[in-house]
Amino acid sequence: MARVTVVGAGVIGLSIAHELAVAGHRVQILAAQDALSSVSGVAAAIWFPHGVAHTAPVLDSAQVTLQRFQELAGRPDTGVRMRQGTVLMRRADTDTSWTRAVPHHERLDATQLPAHLVPGTGATGVACTVPVALTDVYLPWLHAEVLALGVTMRTTEVRDLREVLAQENPDALVVAAGMRSAALLADDDETYPVRGQIVRLANPGLTEWVTDNDNPQGLTYVVPRDHDVVCGGTGEVGSWNEQVDPEVEQAILRRACALVPALAGQPVLSRAVGLRPARSSVRVGAVEGYDRPVFACYGHGGAGFTLSWGDAARIAALIGPA
Ligand SMILES: Cc1cc2nc3c(=O)[nH]c(=O)nc-3n(C[C@H](O)[C@H](O)[C@H](O)COP(=O)(O)OP(=O)(O)OC[C@H]3O[C@@H](n4cnc5c(N)ncnc54)[C@H](O)[C@@H]3O)c2cc1C
Repeated sequence: MARVTVVGAGVIGLSIAHELAVAGHRVQILAAQDALSSVSGVAAAIWFPHGVAHTAPVLDSAQVTLQRFQELAGRPDTGVRMRQGTVLMRRADTDTSWTRAVPHHERLDATQLPAHLVPGTGATGVACTVPVALTDVYLPWLHAEVLALGVTMRTTEVRDLREVLAQENPDALVVAAGMRSAALLADDDETYPVRGQIVRLANPGLTEWVTDNDNPQGLTYVVPRDHDVVCGGTGEVGSWNEQVDPEVEQAILRRACALVPALAGQPVLSRAVGLRPARSSVRVGAVEGYDRPVFACYGHGGAGFTLSWGDAARIAALIGPA
């Protein structure tokens, strides 16, 4: 059995800790904040490889995650639901390589889309059923699962990885600190924030999601959960602003209501901003320069949930069996 320290308790750190504990390792998590208070708590958390390059490892991880979420959706207490919806595509060259991970999907031409979705745009779409994680149920569930597997957790701000190696004395260390991973490792200038703002409305009874990533007025998505509907969004590259912008919210609401008219007049329940940890490519692998094995797992952009189980399995494979 190896003693492994994981820095970070977002969806990535928790999933890694889970897989390492299942493999028989003794795992400790050090994190400044819990998952719901991190970027993971802001996500719409629908399975879709958004904001990451669709490379072979990314699509493989997405597929592994989809299968795991499908299993979890069989247990209502996990907060994972399989939900039908539509990806709208306004460009002829839209990348659809992600569909190979989705067993049940159907290409739709403009005539098959509800008329109000594509007024005059000639958009096409893909209809499919994918997982949606209800973050306020799923993240506490995953946290509890990890603790039940014997993982220990400490709330602390890590400033120096060498200090952690010296004080905690683990056999291996994993950096899964989202947007702040690059600063901790200090060997990476490729990570940057992509600001995302959302607003959550009361759910008038919707179950189907819709995404309209190429909307000329701005990235738009509507993801119904059990009691609310996540409406987004924005994708502001390089912005570190974590404050909700009321004008941006009004624009999101206009676009979301145009896409799903049943949302008009629904009360706002909550609002949030998160900085997606974006990178030229997701970083999953060993980091050189330390006296013990150190691994990185971050840079998941808008796809942290979508890649979580697959990338956790990759880290567990790199560390090896207990
Ligand atoms: C608006 C929005 C919508 C999104 N929608 C989706 C979606 O539909 N589907 C999807 O798959 N993804 C989505 N994402 C992306 C997803 O939220 C992220 O990719 C994911 O949350 C990243 O997880 P993480 O664990 O790497 O980082 P985080 O959730 O940010 O967690 C980082 C953890 O590291 C800890 N930490 C950081 N620095 C330190 C330190 N120095 N010391 C100690 N602890 C530290 C934090 O406290 C926290 O516990 C969305 C993101 C946003 C903003």
